[in-house]
Amino acid sequence: MTTESTLDTARSQLRRAVELLQLSENDWQTLSTPRRILEVAVPLRRDNGNVEMYKGFRVQYSTTRGPSKGGVRFHPDINMDETVALAMLMTWKCALTNLPYGGAKGGIAVDAHTLSLTENERLTRRYTSEILPIIGPERDIPAPDVGTDERNMAWMMDTYSVNAGFSVPGVVTGKPIVLGGSLGRTSATGDGVAISTIEALRVKGIDPKGATVAIQGFGKVGYWTAIALENFGLKIVAVSDVHGGSKGFKNVTEIWDHYQTHGNLNVPGSDKLTQDELLHLDVDVLIPAALSDAITEKTAPGIKAKIIVEGANAPTTPGGDAVINDKGILVVPDILANSGGVIVSYFEWVQDKQNYFWTSAEVKSNLNDIMMRSFKEVEEMAKSKKVSWREAAHMIGVARVAEAHRLRGLYP
Ligand code: GLU
Repeated sequence: MTTESTLDTARSQLRRAVELLQLSENDWQTLSTPRRILEVAVPLRRDNGNVEMYKGFRVQYSTTRGPSKGGVRFHPDINMDETVALAMLMTWKCALTNLPYGGAKGGIAVDAHTLSLTENERLTRRYTSEILPIIGPERDIPAPDVGTDERNMAWMMDTYSVNAGFSVPGVVTGKPIVLGGSLGRTSATGDGVAISTIEALRVKGIDPKGATVAIQGFGKVGYWTAIALENFGLKIVAVSDVHGGSKGFKNVTEIWDHYQTHGNLNVPGSDKLTQDELLHLDVDVLIPAALSDAITEKTAPGIKAKIIVEGANAPTTPGGDAVINDKGILVVPDILANSGGVIVSYFEWVQDKQNYFWTSAEVKSNLNDIMMRSFKEVEEMAKSKKVSWREAAHMIGVARVAEAHRLRGLYP
């Protein structure tokens, strides 16, 4: 069996969209080429005085529809190809949700858990300083992703602002509220995954009350998804982290509190699960909300869920996709399901530009409007073209970028 990289996955999804849209080979060349790639060395002085070198990346995949936009990932496995793939997905995600952005992604190949708070700060600041010439509120706007959070965004905003000589809140999104962050940004990705789940249940004719859910990943996305779904009346039956899963807990708050105090999911009365056992539970909804490559040719055959809602970016390989499509499982693809994060990032950037801040009700209602509009567009496209939801979502996103390219023309 060949292993598929995230870049293989993203390129094959783009290839398919280009075919379905009957775009030209020239369009494929334009759409499959990242516009700007930067690799930087990030030296870190550890607390013990040692100096270590880390690789940092920033990829601006597209700036055709506006400044590029996307998160910064701290993960030991991140490399240039993975960053390109994730920046490509951001491009289609922003186009699908019709945000005035291109797509970007960045990261450092580091395990953030091995860093002290002061080391994390120094690494974040040096990385920001290395990519400083290409970011900015009109150029490219970073945000949190796997392994980073609002603290990292505060340091990035400060490093950029100190160098500019004045405060520039709009250079990053996902900031703490007091620094110009938006209400509702922390839970936004999970809230969007929950909206997608409720809509997918409607399409499948399943009552959300008491519908069962398994969530792979209990981080920023998985946790807020679980909370939102529980509030909608669904039953979260299992969650997992990198070490494995757990089922049989009473509710999300119980297992989250245990997780925060003990660092594991083994709350008394619950049963341990392997990652594969979690993926193969007989539930209504399966939500991969961790990393790429969760649903593959190998893991897909055992999946029993009726609906898969992709909280993570690129959790399903093309091989896995073929299996779940054959099984008739409805998949709400990543670029739709997890777009709540970048949608509220967009609101944050707009608020920063205007120095006028919205109430949490305004944020939630505007998020809901954009999610619902995008969802309907994908649902209709899938129905009218008789394609999968992933193909439909990519067709809409890719077509918007291709049209923008055509209208801008080629310089010189
Ligand atoms: N990292 C998130 C994503 O993959 C959010 C990006 C953003 O807010 O710019 O969509």
